[in-house]
Amino acid sequence: MRTKGSHRGTRADENVEHCEHCGRDTRHRVSIELVSHSDRGSNARFAREPHRVANCRDCGTERTVRLNHDRSGR
Ligand SMILES: [Zn+2]
Repeated sequence: MRTKGSHRGTRADENVEHCEHCGRDTRHRVSIELVSHSDRGSNARFAREPHRVANCRDCGTERTVRLNHDRSGR
């Protein structure tokens, strides 16, 4: 499913974000991945959670952010 109808040749999964390693805004390759959590055995339905993975095109630093941030504190 495409959300942006750009007809340019650039890839849709690139995004400009701030990179802590570079200390500036760089282009990142962004993808959504399901990361398995095999730590606690219980709650098997939460075994895989979507993560947003961004790789800096300059230094290669990978930054992973969990998308569902609901069960952290409350
Ligand atoms: Zn970087």
